[in-house]
Amino acid sequence: MLQPKYKRVVLKLSGEALAGPAGYGIDAGVINSIASQIKEVVELGSEVAIVVGGGNIWRGVAGSAQGIDRATADYMGMLATVINSLALQDALEKHGVQTRVQTSIEMRQVAEPYIRRRAIRHLEKKRVVIFAAGTGNPFFSTDTTAALRAAEIEAEVILMAKNKVDGVYDSDPRTNPNAVKYRELDYLEVLNKGLGVMDSTATSLCMDNNMQIIVFNISEEGNIKRVVLGEDIGTVVRGGQK
Ligand code: UDP
Repeated sequence: MLQPKYKRVVLKLSGEALAGPAGYGIDAGVINSIASQIKEVVELGSEVAIVVGGGNIWRGVAGSAQGIDRATADYMGMLATVINSLALQDALEKHGVQTRVQTSIEMRQVAEPYIRRRAIRHLEKKRVVIFAAGTGNPFFSTDTTAALRAAEIEAEVILMAKNKVDGVYDSDPRTNPNAVKYRELDYLEVLNKGLGVMDSTATSLCMDNNMQIIVFNISEEGNIKRVVLGEDIGTVVRGGQK
């Protein structure tokens, strides 16, 4: 039987990962494919927590550019992540995967409040825990949420799912055919070169807690499982061992 390399992972999905070709909203086919990929990982025996973004519905920065107060726009973004989390929960449960959604902003009729020890207990029982509503604070991102929750639940790695790009490049591979992919990076290189792994607050948090990040392409079926099995398909970001 295949053995997972990682016992406990945080999967970070951007909101756009759920959007499909339209680029916004939630695409039933796409979310189903993601759910079945997550199921495969649960079946390997890994404990899976998920942080999902909200960019397919609302982004605080864009809202504030339209004149909405930034903090208010950010709260709207956090609510968008709850919508995505519920959609993902529904898709996972249709695949027979037990899930719990925990929100950083209380909404008890909809989901459990975030309680760290409870989240860990769910994971131990092989339930997928979806962390919704970001960190609960404006001016942060769901990347930061992934970094924070991963440290809190003592995950071994953050799996940063990207759409249609299979790792971190020195320039945009969609516009530059000569872009070179990094197999491994140090946190400081990511920060200094301004590479698009996660935002700088999230990267710093990972650096301070020595939390490994793997950037990979989720658009290709089966890739979450490949990463969890230890296949070298993306870019690894970790502490300076070079
Ligand atoms: N957000 C926030 N605090 C958090 C997490 C998210 O204010 O801790 C808001 C912020 O406005 C952000 C939006 O929620 O733009 C959606 O999250 P994000 O942009 O990280 O989603 P993604 O880019 O992953 O789809």
